[in-house]
Amino acid sequence: MEKTIIHDKLNRPLRDLRISVIDRCNFRCQYCMPADQFGSDFEFLPRSALLTYEEIERVARIFVHLGVEKIRLTGGEPLLRRDLPILVAKLSSLDGLRDIALTTNGVLLPKLASSLKDAGLKRVNVSIDSLNDELFGKINGRGVGTGPVLDGIAAAKAAGLGIKINMVVKKGLNDSEIIPMAQYCKENKLELRYIEFMDVGSTNGWKMDDVVSKKEIFQMLSEHFEMEPIDPAYYGEVAKHYRYKNTNVKVGFITSVSESFCSSCTRARLSANGQIYTCLFNGNGYDIRNMMRNGATDEQLVERIVSIWNNRRDRYSDERTAETNKHRKKIEMSYIGG
Ligand code: SAM
Ligand code: SF4
Ligand code: SF4
Repeated sequence: MEKTIIHDKLNRPLRDLRISVIDRCNFRCQYCMPADQFGSDFEFLPRSALLTYEEIERVARIFVHLGVEKIRLTGGEPLLRRDLPILVAKLSSLDGLRDIALTTNGVLLPKLASSLKDAGLKRVNVSIDSLNDELFGKINGRGVGTGPVLDGIAAAKAAGLGIKINMVVKKGLNDSEIIPMAQYCKENKLELRYIEFMDVGSTNGWKMDDVVSKKEIFQMLSEHFEMEPIDPAYYGEVAKHYRYKNTNVKVGFITSVSESFCSSCTRARLSANGQIYTCLFNGNGYDIRNMMRNGATDEQLVERIVSIWNNRRDRYSDERTAETNKHRKKIEMSYIGG
């Protein structure tokens, strides 16, 4: 099928699709699914509400036809969704898709890395916010030490998957881990991306004062390492990259709060229950699941997605203030992924 390139109201093309395959998780990271808010009585989506793999493939094929080149699978914890390699195989055979990646907390990678690679997965981003077992257990809300995640990273490496490491930095919580994480990743030739703590959802108690900005992190790193900037690899690249001098090891910053990048945001998101979101900070999505289940044709789905994208004006991070954060209803991160 010939690609049709579509643009939104701010002239941004549609290029990326993030697909959340599940809203559940085996962690309760403080900044994402705080344990006191996501307790044993929390009502997750019933199985029947989740898009099937056939439905996800159908929507993804249409998105690829409308310009999407990269798909990232996320969650919740995507590796908790049963038989995920089957979905990866379906998606990686889509004509016109250039890249398929996955964001995970890594715990289930020892079990799944090689079958994901065989199914066509190219890369994983593994999230780990500290190398200190006690602190990491506190952050993930489940008391899980770093061992299972480091084993997951090793399994991804052994399977031949590309690996990037994600670290969310929250002031007073894990800023002491900025340098140890850099040292570890540099020694192990892993690209580390520092992510500024974001005000996603409304359960993580975000305050501007808790954000450690790229500038602050960079300053700390500069005291230990020599780094040189790298030009963006492509339009809309989220992370700002540097390279440790005289090495091939990169380090990146996701500056959603201190240096927003809405003007080149080409990402659409599909929640596990089939709602399309055009921004991480939307309150409501646009339903596509019921349309499919009520017999919509591909042409009708294309028309719907084109109309959603053509009417998109989102630029939340450009406009963020303490007030916008307080008053806006926002979907939880675990529901639509990072
Ligand atoms: N469970 C998987 C994981 O943790 O990698 C995938 C889903 S998680 C929602 C995706 C990414 O969002 C992770 O790298 C996580 O650290 C990041 N994240 C979650 N809450 C965040 C927040 N409040 N601010 C910044 N990043 C956040
Ligand atoms: Fe789970 Fe990932 Fe959220 Fe942590 S960041 S609670 S691992 S979905
Ligand atoms: Fe894109 Fe919304 Fe993030 Fe801006 S705030 S970069 S529009 S997801």
